[in-house]
This record gives sequence, C-alpha cells and structure tokens, in this order.
Amino acid sequence: MDNTIYQRIDGITQRILAGGEMTADEGRWLIRLDHDYLPWLMAGADRLRKTFRGDEVEICAISNVRSGNCSENCSFCGQSGHHKTAAPKYNYIPAEQLVEQAHRAREWGASDFGVVSKGWGVRGDKEREQLRDYFGELKKHSDIGRCASLGALDQESADMLKAMGMENYHHNLETAESFFHNVCTTHTYQENIDTIRHAVAAGLRVCAGGILGMGESLDQRIELAETLRNLNVESVPLNFLNPIDGTPMADQQPMQPLEILHMIAVFRYMLPRAEIRIAGGRHFLRDLQAMIFFAGASGVMIGDYLTTKGRQVSDDLKMLDDLKVRARGDTQQRRAAETPIVISATA
Ligand code: SF4
Repeated sequence: MDNTIYQRIDGITQRILAGGEMTADEGRWLIRLDHDYLPWLMAGADRLRKTFRGDEVEICAISNVRSGNCSENCSFCGQSGHHKTAAPKYNYIPAEQLVEQAHRAREWGASDFGVVSKGWGVRGDKEREQLRDYFGELKKHSDIGRCASLGALDQESADMLKAMGMENYHHNLETAESFFHNVCTTHTYQENIDTIRHAVAAGLRVCAGGILGMGESLDQRIELAETLRNLNVESVPLNFLNPIDGTPMADQQPMQPLEILHMIAVFRYMLPRAEIRIAGGRHFLRDLQAMIFFAGASGVMIGDYLTTKGRQVSDDLKMLDDLKVRARGDTQQRRAAETPIVISATA
C-alpha cells in the first residue's frame, strides 16, 4: 500500500468539499487506481454524495410506451430496426395503463416517472396528440415527476413538451464523442448536445448520462464525464452495457462488480453535485448492488428497463430499507425549490 495514494485521494476530496473540482488529468489517474484503494475512494465518494446530495436518494421508474423498429442504429439497443433482436414491438400503450404504472411507481417511492418511446424526436400530429394525452392524464391523476425520453428535440418540440406538462427530459449522450462513431451513425453527437441545450432552454430539468462497458477506453469515460460537467447536467444516469443478442454489441463482456463501483465513484468525483442514478446493467454488480450508494450514487432506477428485466422491486425496497436509506419522494417540494439550470460552458 502506498500512503501517498491515500493522501492524493484525500487532497482531491478536500478540494471538492471546499468548492473546487477534480481536473480531467486527476480523473484519468483516479480511474486507473488499483482496486486495493477502492474502499478509500468509495469513502470519499460517499462523503461527496452526502455533502452535495444529502442522505436521501432519488428513485425513478420508466415505462416503455412504444417499442421496436426504431429508425436509428444504436449498436447497444434491442429496439433498433437495424438489428434482429427479440425485443417486443408495439405501438403506444393506452394512457390508462401508463397512469396505472405511474401509480405503482409512486407506491414504490419513486419521485419521477419516465415516458420512454423508441425513435428519434417528436414527429407528426398523431405523436403530439398522444404525448399531450399522456402528460395531461399523468398530471391529472398523479403527483409523480413527469419525465420523457423521446430522442432528439428541436427548440419548438422542447417548448411544446414543457407546455404539455413535462418537467424533466432524459437524453443520454451514450458515450464520449470520440467513441460515438462505434455506437451510432444515424445521428450525430452534436444532435445529442443540441437536444440537451434545447431542453434546458425550454426550462426542463435535464437527465443525461451514458452507458459504460461498450468498448470505450478509460480516458473516454472521463471524456464523457467532462462533457456532462461542461454541460452542467444535473442528473446523470449511469448504465452498464447489458449485451443484447442480435445487436453488434452482443459479444461484449459485461463489466465486473468492482469495476462498476469504481466507475460510480469516479463519476461522483467528476460530477460531485449531480444526481447520479444507477440504471440498466445494475445486476452485473451481483451481491454488491447495495454498495452503489457507498460508491457515490444518489439515485436508482427500479422496475424494468426498456427491453430488459430489472430486479424484483421488493428486493430493491428491502435493500433500501436495510441500508436505512430513505427515498427523496417529495416531488412537490422539489418543484417549489428548483431553479432553472444554466449551461455554463460549450461542449
Ligand atoms: S437507443 Fe433509442 S434511438 Fe437508439 S436505436 Fe434504441 S430506441 Fe432507437
């Protein structure tokens, strides 16, 4: 064991606690630390989480309202029409079913509920009417936070969704810009960035993160974190690739539990004030799932994911109970307290 390594981690932690930040160079060092130092790193990440996000964690859930035959070729995704997968194909589910799912998510303690539709943006009157119906019904029947993930947005669509009652927009960058060509070629990284900017300009809370374990390098993971930091993204979902049969990434090896915890901690150091939510691929942590909060995560997605099954919700709720971690469930309070996010830098 090298004492100078402990001291260097402590020095970075203290600087962040005092209002500073970790440099990308330090991030590239931290992400290569031997796993022997992981408990120390996690202790620092846990301290940052508690200082900047408090003791409670945010729970969210999603509904995949329309699935399959997507025009885009994202190489990790079972819903792309470019790959032959077993992902279900269906058109918009009825609004009553969506409201039922939102009620269930609220009972689980979720503060936010995402309407997720395959595809690339809001196109056509029929789609607009369907979304108006969804958000109207959700607003009428539930106090849960209303999120959506609908692909690229221009400014007009972002403003329209805000007027419909949507509060949060989820749009992952997926990966670092320098790796994006391996992930998707039917749209550009710049479209992702523009979408985030349009959502922010519309006054929406933005949730944007990525998927780790797609073959990107450690430096590219830091590049992604840096881009998210430069965009001032407040909520960052982290996914870990779940290789789906029939996709170009089917043979990719899933990440190992300690590596996943290490990445969560590094993202906490890079984005100390962000809501870091752990989403798809969490099951690769196996018996270490409960450690995500000690590694710096401040949120978790429960229930099923888009085309893959999540863990039993009862097991997740038991886990939170055992950890004495409370859900930050008061959406109304958050609505009252929140101020619009300001983008501070270009990316
Ligand atoms: S990630 Fe979204 S845009 Fe890409 S293929 Fe899947 S559903 Fe389509």
